[in-house]
Amino acid sequence: MASLDDLPLRDDLRGKKAYGAPMVPVRYALNVNENTHPVPDSVRSAILESLGHALENINRYPDREFTELRESLATYASESHQGEAITPDMVWAANGSNEVLQHVLQAFGGPGRSLLGFPPTYSMHPIIAESTGTTWIRGRRNEDFTLSTESVVTDIETHRPDLVFFCAPNNPTGTPVSVDTIAAAYDATSGIVLVDEAYVEFLPEGTLTASQLLPGRERLVVSRTMSKAFAFAGARVGYLLADPAVIDAMRLVRLPYHLSALTQAAAVAALAHRATMLTMVADIRTQRDRLLAELPKLGYPVAYSEANFVLFGGVADPHATFESLLEHDILVRDVGIPHHLRVTAGTTEETSFFLETLAKLSA
Ligand SMILES: *Cc1c(COP(=O)(O)O)cnc(C)c1O
Repeated sequence: MASLDDLPLRDDLRGKKAYGAPMVPVRYALNVNENTHPVPDSVRSAILESLGHALENINRYPDREFTELRESLATYASESHQGEAITPDMVWAANGSNEVLQHVLQAFGGPGRSLLGFPPTYSMHPIIAESTGTTWIRGRRNEDFTLSTESVVTDIETHRPDLVFFCAPNNPTGTPVSVDTIAAAYDATSGIVLVDEAYVEFLPEGTLTASQLLPGRERLVVSRTMSKAFAFAGARVGYLLADPAVIDAMRLVRLPYHLSALTQAAAVAALAHRATMLTMVADIRTQRDRLLAELPKLGYPVAYSEANFVLFGGVADPHATFESLLEHDILVRDVGIPHHLRVTAGTTEETSFFLETLAKLSA
C-alpha cells in the first residue's frame, strides 16, 4: 500500500492530521457531545412515515431549495428566540453544520484569505479553514477560557481577518460568549462574523443569542445543528441563519441537490415533533450542573459550562485516565489541553456511573 507521501497531494495538505475522535463501541459514549437519549418511539414512527412518502419520488432529484425544511427550521429558530422572526429566506442547511461551515469558507474564505478563531475551540474550525486554503489565525483567550471584548477587538485590528469565528458556547470549554462581544467584533471588522451555536439549546433559559443580532447585520452568520440537543447526529443536518444575501452566496458553492430527499423528509418530521425531541434538554442541563458541582469535589476543577459537556482539569495524565475510564466502558475526550479531559452530560445513569468510576480511580 502506498502512503500519502507517494501521492501528488496539495502542498498545503502535506503533514496535516485528519479529524480524529476515536470511534470505539462502548456502553458509556460520552465523548462527542451527542444527546445520549434515543429518539422517542412516537417520533421514530413519524419519521418513518415521512421517509415512506419521500421514497415515492426517490427516482427524482430532491428539492434543491429544500423549501419545506427551510420553513420548518425558520419556524423553530423564530420560536426559540425573542427577536424578529427568522424567515425561510434567511435559512441555509447542509449535511451537518460542518458542511455549512465549509460552504461559508468556500464562499468567503480561500487562498489569500484568513480566518480568526479563538483556541482552544472547535477542532474542525482550523481543519475546514485549511481544507479550503484559508489561513487560520489564533486569537487570544483569558486563562479561564473566557473572551474579553477588548482583546477580541485588538486581535481583529491587528490581523484584519476576512472572517471571525466564535463558538458560543465554546467547544471544548463550554464557555459562553456575550452578544456584546459579538456585536463589538462585528463593528471592528468588514468581514464575515460567524457564531457557531451548536449548543444553543443548552444555554440558560432567556439567554440572548447571536440570532437576535441579525437584523441590520448582513455580514453576521449564525450556524446551528440538529446533531446535539436535537438528538439527530446520525441524520447529518446543520443549518445557518443569516441575511438572504448570504444564502445567495451559499448557492454559488454548494453542489446541486446536496441534501438528499431522505434527509429532508427525516428532518422535517423531526422538527414537527420538536417539543418531544427536546424534552430531555432540561435533564441534560441538570446532569451538566451535577458534573460542574461534583467534579471539583473529586479534585478536578471545571471550566464553567453552558453546553452539554464539561471540561475538567487537574488530571495528572489525561491519556492514562482516558485509558482507565475506557477499561470501565466509558469513552471521554482527550482534547489535547494539558491536564484536562472533556465529558459529555448524558442520562442520569450515565453521569452517575461516570462520576462513581472516576471517584474510584482517583481514590
Ligand atoms: C458538534 C459540533 C458541531 C456539529 O457538527 P455537525 O456537522 O452539525 O454534526 C458544530 N460545531 C461545534 C462547535 C460542535 O461542537
